[in-house]
Amino acid sequence: MDKYVIDRGGNRDLALYSHAPKSYKEFDGLPPVSSSDAHMRWHPLRREWIGHASARQGRTFLPNQADCPLCVMTHNDKPSDIPVDDYEIAIFTNRFSALSLGAETPPEMEIDTTSGIGCCDVISYSADHNASLASLSIERIALLIEAIGERITTIYQNDDIIWSLPFENRGREIGVTLDHPHGQIYSLSVLPNAVKTQADAMAEDAPLTGLSETIDDELVLDRADSALAYVPRWARYPFETWVMPNRAMDGPHQLTAKEIKDLAHMIKAAASRLDGVFDAPMPYTLAWQIAPKGYEGKFHFHLTFQPLKRGRNKQKYLASVEQISGLFLVDLPPERAARILRGEEAGDE
Ligand SMILES: [Zn+2]
Repeated sequence: MDKYVIDRGGNRDLALYSHAPKSYKEFDGLPPVSSSDAHMRWHPLRREWIGHASARQGRTFLPNQADCPLCVMTHNDKPSDIPVDDYEIAIFTNRFSALSLGAETPPEMEIDTTSGIGCCDVISYSADHNASLASLSIERIALLIEAIGERITTIYQNDDIIWSLPFENRGREIGVTLDHPHGQIYSLSVLPNAVKTQADAMAEDAPLTGLSETIDDELVLDRADSALAYVPRWARYPFETWVMPNRAMDGPHQLTAKEIKDLAHMIKAAASRLDGVFDAPMPYTLAWQIAPKGYEGKFHFHLTFQPLKRGRNKQKYLASVEQISGLFLVDLPPERAARILRGEEAGDE
């Protein structure tokens, strides 16, 4: 993998990743950054931090393709976050960050507050505005896996960072504000309760270890030599899909070349199956579940797709019970979801 860095000052490096060294024509088109007022407030009953970042109110909202900040520049026409003539994968710091490595002292209040220290990156998957995870080549998804692994390794060198979450919000139903295919990485200085619970479960019970050998075939979507795509028995979302290497590890930076390729095949297959359910782009959130600091060697890196459609014209909403109690109510059994994803049964209207 080749990495080309454009220094934009103020923690705003732009990294361009490619399989082979590539030359770029650079333009001077960087849009201004909004100031960060990021801080966190303590919720005394939930015993967790709430992030505040009012600068995000002004973020780019569903621009036309001609004004897309993730598309390439061909001349000095419009500002772009990626001011080059072509690229494969780009990662850069979000202009509208909810967190900042240089976050200022938090406001004093009658409740506990802390600085919003962290980092928010944008990952553009492709220069093609109309691409998607399902349409990318295996080689490009492999490059994406490597680029995310490299970025995480760099971010984890910062002592303030305790955990990173690479993710994708896909589809306007989820609330995306840019249609260009992209993901993000949030790197935090605090560990959310739900993340700690999952990491503790991995460390104590290792529920994913050996799963590739013991899993019931009715849940399996696709297999490769070293990786698996499946619907977990404990799925909370309709068509929830997990993809993982068979071998336990902390994150994508520990994958071998063969494992990267196998995982890329599983990711492409999973995204394609989701889009195939209703022959339409499936709205989803996608999480790359990576070991928080302190859990090295006791974690099983995996990806989880959380789709939000239960029927062709029916959206899954998180309503009262889910929002208030965290108890999920599932109306599409995971076993049936697996059959639909494999194309053995039709999805509901
Ligand atoms: Zn675009």
